[in-house]
Amino acid sequence: MSYTPTIGLEIHAELKTKTKMFCACKNETEKKVSPNVNVCPICMGHPGTLPVANEEAMKKIIKVGIALGSKIPDQAFFYRKNYFYPDLPKGYQITSQESPFAIGGSIQAGDKKIRINHVHLEEDTGKLQHVSESNSSLIDFNRAGVPLMELVTEADISSGEEAKEFCQKLRLILCYLEVSDAEMEKGQMRCEVNVSISQSEKLGTKVEVKNLNSFKAVEKAINYEIKRQKEVLEDGKKVIQETRGWDETTGKTMSQRKKEEAHDYRYLKDPDLPMIDIKNNFNLEKIKADIIELPEQREKRYKEEFSLKKENVGLLVQNKELGDYFEQIVSELKAWLESSGGGPEQKATKLAANYVVSELQKMLVASKTQIGECKITPENFAELIKMIIKKEISSSGAQELLKEMFKTGGDPSQIVEAKDLKQVSGGDEMEKFVDETIKNNSKSVEDYKNGKQNALQFLVGQTMKASKGKANPGEIIKILKKKIVN
Ligand SMILES: [Zn+2]
Repeated sequence: MSYTPTIGLEIHAELKTKTKMFCACKNETEKKVSPNVNVCPICMGHPGTLPVANEEAMKKIIKVGIALGSKIPDQAFFYRKNYFYPDLPKGYQITSQESPFAIGGSIQAGDKKIRINHVHLEEDTGKLQHVSESNSSLIDFNRAGVPLMELVTEADISSGEEAKEFCQKLRLILCYLEVSDAEMEKGQMRCEVNVSISQSEKLGTKVEVKNLNSFKAVEKAINYEIKRQKEVLEDGKKVIQETRGWDETTGKTMSQRKKEEAHDYRYLKDPDLPMIDIKNNFNLEKIKADIIELPEQREKRYKEEFSLKKENVGLLVQNKELGDYFEQIVSELKAWLESSGGGPEQKATKLAANYVVSELQKMLVASKTQIGECKITPENFAELIKMIIKKEISSSGAQELLKEMFKTGGDPSQIVEAKDLKQVSGGDEMEKFVDETIKNNSKSVEDYKNGKQNALQFLVGQTMKASKGKANPGEIIKILKKKIVN
């Protein structure tokens, strides 16, 4: 008999802010800084200190809520969630879980709308580092008190694939909103999943899986857990309500602690933090207006306005910085086309997309460079596209030019001059290259005369080679045909 999996997610993401959630310490989790430098009496929980809620963090979480289609309540409160752990200096965590900043909303994953229960704001904990050689633990409080958003979904998900897609979509939205870098590998985004399976309307026993620090791990852990629970039930046993950890090396979930009952955190409204009057203190219309474009909108625009290929759209939407770079090239090209009396804009845009997605991306990956560190300015990149359109360089010349630009960041016209890459078209020189090819490849010439189309391609290739990539392939074909047939 088949079982229906029911899955819910709890996703944490560190917000990108100048300072921590309740004090003026720097929020530098993305940088490598010495341990325990961004600390003060407030985030260390010294007696007599007073927290002040970070306005930037609150604006950012409201922005997330608006983008997800959530309802933003008129008020929010901060609570103390009491528990002891060495990475929590105050002995409690301040959280708005009981009174979130955003309620409801959804994200589309596949053909399913995954509903969101709420998004709340809280503070992160410090980081423990266990040192096995000395059998001790070290603690770094730089992260303690950093603003953290937590998003809780409804249990609408039914497979590992769906969960992975949800997480990827959320990550991209957070990047587009510029509220978080949300890199799972760096711990800026962390995921917990709740999995149960059942054969009836009544839900099965829920198992929580933690330590998921990649999208793949989310997918694999869920699929493993569904399989494991099925085997337990088919053995006639019961699934135990517990927290399990994901072990990447074995590809299995392992029992961490049994949950006999829900924890009692003794939530209480933090008496040091006043009610947050969202309605009167935050301009929701302005926050909404700051949301320039979301991934889905960009995808639609690239398909409809630019008529780009599906694969090109995919990469330029997934990689926001690369997409931004591409748009800068496009605006340069647009200005050029307008000033030069206009031309087929889509052709230039498509060509630019092809060069960015295939050629440039290949070089970035091979050299492990981020687009932000790329030496080619969008202006120079647009210059290269213009040269191709004006037939000043051939496509093989363009590749060589791009390689050089990538290496040196140099000016394209200077490189073309220095490396003698200007395309040869028409005139005696082209005829000379073609004559040479015909003379040296009489077998292929015969083959072409006997109807073998491949032979012509070969001859074009030989001529291109003879011209060192400077000849125009279209013209070569014309001259070759003319000469061979006559
Ligand atoms: Zn502090």
